[in-house]
Formats: sequence, structure tokens, C-alpha cells
Amino acid sequence: MSATLELHRLAMPLVRPFRTSKGEETVRDVLVASWTGADGVTGWAESAADPEPTYFPEYIDGVRLTIERVLLPLLAEASAEPLTSAALRAAFAEVPGNPLARGLLETAVLDAELRRHGMPMADFLGSLRRPIRVGVSVGIPGDVDTLLSWVGGYLQDGYRRVKLKIQPGWDLEPVRAVRQAFGDELPLQVDANQAYTPADIPLLSRLDEFGLVLIEQPFARHELLGHAKLAARRGTPVCLDESVLSLDDAMTAIRLGAADVINIKPSRVGGYLTSRQIHDVCLANGVPVFCGGTLETAVGRAANLALAALPGFTLPGDISATSRYYAADIGPAFELDAEGCLTAPSGPGNGVEVDRDAVEEFTVESTTFTI
Ligand code: MG
Repeated sequence: MSATLELHRLAMPLVRPFRTSKGEETVRDVLVASWTGADGVTGWAESAADPEPTYFPEYIDGVRLTIERVLLPLLAEASAEPLTSAALRAAFAEVPGNPLARGLLETAVLDAELRRHGMPMADFLGSLRRPIRVGVSVGIPGDVDTLLSWVGGYLQDGYRRVKLKIQPGWDLEPVRAVRQAFGDELPLQVDANQAYTPADIPLLSRLDEFGLVLIEQPFARHELLGHAKLAARRGTPVCLDESVLSLDDAMTAIRLGAADVINIKPSRVGGYLTSRQIHDVCLANGVPVFCGGTLETAVGRAANLALAALPGFTLPGDISATSRYYAADIGPAFELDAEGCLTAPSGPGNGVEVDRDAVEEFTVESTTFTI
């Protein structure tokens, strides 16, 4: 095979620190891949991996090592020239786990493949190419007054749905304050990032009075039975995020009654093809989905918008405008339209023309592999 893979580790300054129950970020340390096939066409992809395995079990150095030591040697034996996403999936069929590493490579190869054929990713996925209602995910500030000023600012910016990060000691009070300040009509939801246990079900039940759209991942990712117990109350709808790393996970969660809603993060489940499969299963079972986010650059944001236009994505996604996170990006900025929506680019692949100068400017480490 004659192809080149470049892994760029970027340090992207955030316009505002982002704090969740898992820690705080001021700079997005992000891994971006570019794959150039035998025909010279380049595709791009972005990983959601963090520098440490605090959120996903995989992390940046682990993803890089898995790609170098495990995945690229498998691709060397793939026969398709230039490589296709189907050939890549066949080559990785026996690799257990490692969805972030597999998904990064698969997405870059898929992007190159679609650009080669002049096909937008939304069309390939079967999306409707519609404007996507998007919401904002609000980190945990130091106090309620700061939270209210942030939320007020985001609503002025045009966001139509607000997601508050919560954790023990920061739950009922901030939710009550936001409800009182901005009214019952505001679509409001919370995300605990696994910070509670099923012993907290009585406490979490008190959130029901606030008319939330959903509560996302209150318990540890393996706690499907705990989530099913919470969902069985038929109070605030229960959404799974970290629990769903694969199509099998999604099907099991649905069968157990553990998920009223699923947050699909393409990077976490191994890419956009698996994301589409999870969407299809959820749609067939009447489980609404939305597209999660991890402070994406233009590359990840564009692909997420293409996915989020599939018909089952009936809830606003965590796909903010670029300015929510970055003053400068590696591709064109995405801005909300007058309806508070974003639309996937219409060009081939993810549709983003990557600014290579910006990539160079933000790169702190880069590695090139020839396959
Ligand atoms: Mg989440």
C-alpha cells in the first residue's frame, strides 16, 4: 500500500475554561489525523481522546500507540488501493475495543474516500442535510451568579437548549436557579458524567420537579441496572452517554430499559458508520438520540453535523458554534443562524477545507507514517 498518515497533536486555547465533574480544561489538547491515499486525496479526522484516561478509557498517547503498533500493520495487509473504509473495517474486525483509535483512522479514510467520489458525508450517511438545532453544554462555574450570567449569554447568542453539568453538591440549587431565572419553557437538561450512584436515586428524583428534558449518565458506565432502576420511575428521562461504546452496548441498554435517550458520540463508538448503526437501532425502538460533543475543532464539528441530520436525531445536539470554544480554529468557523441552528457543510467528505497553516501553528507534536 502507498499511503501516508499524519498524526497532529494540537494545543488549541479555549476562550473559557471548561469544568465538569471530571476536571478542568483551558487548552484543548487534541489529536487530529490526516490520511493521504495512493491517489493523493487527503481525508481528515479528529479524536475525542484526552491527554489522560480520565473520561474515556483510551487517551491520546494510547491512541497513537495503538495506531502505530496494532492498526497500521493490519492496514499494510489490506488489498484495496486506495484504501476504502470497508476494507479498513474488515482489517480491524478482530481488534477488540479501542474504538477511539479505530474510529480516528476509519473516519480519516472515510473522509478521503468520500472526497474522492465528490460525496458529502451527510449524503453518504443518508442524512437529510437539514439545519440542526443545537444546544450549549455549560461547565461548572464557581457560583450560581456566574452560572446565570453564562446561561443568559448563551441564550442571547441564540442557543435553544441548555445542558448543565452537575455533580454531588452542585445539582438541585443551580438547576432551580436556572429554572427560576429563565422560565419553564427553556429546554433544560443535566449531565452528571457518572458522578452519582444508585444510592442517590432519591436525591436525583427531586430533579423531576424542574421539568428537565433528560438526565444524562448519572451513574458509572457499567451501571446499566442502576440506570434501568432510575428510568423505571418514569420521572426525568434517563440518557446514556459513557455507557454506550458500541452497537451491542446500545442494544443491551435498550433491552434493559436503561436508556430513554442515547447520546451518540461518534468518536467514542468507533466512528460514524457505527454511529449510524446505533442511530438506526434507536430509531427502530423509538429511542431518541442526540449528537454529543467534546469541544471539537472544525473537523469533528462538521462530521458531527452530517451525522446529526439523520432523522432519529430529534433532540438538539451538543454541537456549539466555533466561537463557544475557540477564537481561532483549523477550519472555517461555524456560526448559529437566526433560528439557533447549524448546518453541515455541503462539500465532499466532511466539507471542511482544513487550514494547514493553522494546523502547523497549533501543532505541538506530529508524527508521519508511510504505509
Ligand atoms: Mg455526557
